[in-house]
Amino acid sequence: MSKFDYDLIVIGAGSGGTRTARIAASYGAKVLVVEGDRAGGTCVLRGCVPKKLLVYASQFSEQVSDAEGFCWQVSNFQSNWHELILKKNKELDRLHEIYVNLIKNSGCHLISGWGKITGPNTVSIIKEDNKKIELSSQKIMIAAGGESSFPNFEGNNYMINSDKALDLLELPDSIAIYGSGYIAVEFAGIFNGFGVDTHLIFRADMALRGFDKDIRQHLMTSMEQKGITIHNKVTISKIEEKGQMHKIHLSNNKSLSVETVMGATGRLPKVSNLGLEEIGVHLGKRGEVLVNNFNQTNINSIFAIGDVTDKITLTPVAIAEGHSFADREFGKINRYVSYSNVPSAVFSQPSIAVVGITYEDAVKKGIKAREYKSEFRALKNTISGNIERTLMKLIVDDNSQKVVGAHMIGPDSAEIIQGIAIAIKAGALKSDFDSTIGIHPSAAEEFVTMRS
Ligand code: NDP
Repeated sequence: MSKFDYDLIVIGAGSGGTRTARIAASYGAKVLVVEGDRAGGTCVLRGCVPKKLLVYASQFSEQVSDAEGFCWQVSNFQSNWHELILKKNKELDRLHEIYVNLIKNSGCHLISGWGKITGPNTVSIIKEDNKKIELSSQKIMIAAGGESSFPNFEGNNYMINSDKALDLLELPDSIAIYGSGYIAVEFAGIFNGFGVDTHLIFRADMALRGFDKDIRQHLMTSMEQKGITIHNKVTISKIEEKGQMHKIHLSNNKSLSVETVMGATGRLPKVSNLGLEEIGVHLGKRGEVLVNNFNQTNINSIFAIGDVTDKITLTPVAIAEGHSFADREFGKINRYVSYSNVPSAVFSQPSIAVVGITYEDAVKKGIKAREYKSEFRALKNTISGNIERTLMKLIVDDNSQKVVGAHMIGPDSAEIIQGIAIAIKAGALKSDFDSTIGIHPSAAEEFVTMRS
C-alpha cells in the first residue's frame, strides 16, 4: 500500500496534462487530474482548434472570389458571424466532453477545482463548491499552460486577448491588433477575411521575428495585398475609449480609431496561485518553471511540461513531453523528447510552415550554407486571377550536404512541411531530395526540383 493518496496528481487538463495522465494510468498508476477551468485546455478550447475553425471560415471570401475566376456565378454570398461563433462553441463543448471521457475512461479521477501545491507531495484543491481538500501524491505534474500578457501603458485594459477575440458575439467594423507573432498575424487574417477593416500594429520592421526573412517579406506583401493595413516600427503609447470606438495613440505621434483593439503581445507561463514560490520551486525570469531533461524541477517529486516551462510553446511538444514522462516514470521506458527540428506552422493567410534553421540562423552559427528558393504563382491562381504567390526555400549545409531547413509560405504549407520534417529529421541530403520524383502538378514537387 502506498502512503500517498495517488501515484500522480496532474494540475491542468490541457493536451499535455491529459496525455500525461492517460499514459501514466495505462501503466497502472493511480492518477488524479485537477482542472480549474474546463478540461481541454488552451489548444482545444481557446487556441489552435477554435482559431483554425475561424481561419477556415474566413477563407471562404477569397475562395468565392477564386470560384468566380473559374466562371462560377455566386450571388448573395454572406457570412453570419454570430451563428458561426455559436456553432464553434457547440463543437468546443463536444471536444470538452471528449476530454472528460478520455480522462475518466482511462481510469483517472478528475476534480474540477484550482490546485495549489503545498509541499513536495501535497496539493490542496479548492473545489467548485468552494470546499477545500488536501491530497497527497508520490509525484506531481504541473501542466498549467500559459496566459496572454500585455505591455504596460495607459488604456491597455481596453485591449481584448485572443480568448475574447474567439468569443466576440458580433463582428466589429474595424479592429487593430497589437503584435506580430503567431497569434497577431493569424487573427489579422481571420478578421480581414470577414471584411473587417483590419490594422496590424507592431514594433519590428517585419512580422514574425525569427522566421526566414524572405518568408517574412512575402507575408508582409501578401497581407497588404489582401487589405490589412500595416503600422510597423511603432508601439502603442495610449488607448482612449471614445464612445463605441477606441483611439490608439502611436509612438510616431500618429493615431487611429477602431472599434476593437486586440493585444497579441506574447504569453507567459501560468504560475500564479500554484504555490510554487512558497514551496521553493525554482522559476525563471519570465516565471517559467525550470526543469531538467526529465521535466523535473529542483524538487524531485515535482515535474512540469508544456507552456508553463516556456521552452517550445507548441501543443505537440507538451504532448510529447507528457507522454515521455509517463513512459519513463511509470512504464520503465527510456523515452525522451528531441527538441531539434520541431516543425511549426502559422495559420496566417497565406499560411507558413517551417522546420529546421533559417539561412540567417546558419550564418549566426557559423554554418556555411546554401539557400535554394522557388517562388511561383500556383496553377490554380492562373485562372482564378488571385495574385497570391507561393515561396519555398531549402537551406543546405555546404559541408554535410544535409538539408537543415525548409520554409514555405503558401496554401497547404503545414500539410507539406510535416512530410519534409520527417526527411530532415532523418538527415536527408540534398541529393535525396533531388532523386525523389515529384508529384505533378503540385506545389510540393518544387521541394524536390530546386536547383541553385
Ligand atoms: P509571440 O511570441 O509569437 O509574439 C509576440 C509579439 O508581441 C511579437 O510581435 C513581439 O514583438 C510583441 N511584443 C512582445 N512584447 C512586446 C512589448 N512589450 N511591446 C510591444 N510588442 C511586444 O506571441 P503570441 O502571443 O503570438 O503567441 C504565443 C505563443 O503561442 C507562440 O510563440 C507560439 O509558440 C504559440 N502559438 C502557436 C501557434 C501555432 O502553432 N500556429 C498559434 C498561436 C500561438 P517582437 O517580435 O518585436 O519581439
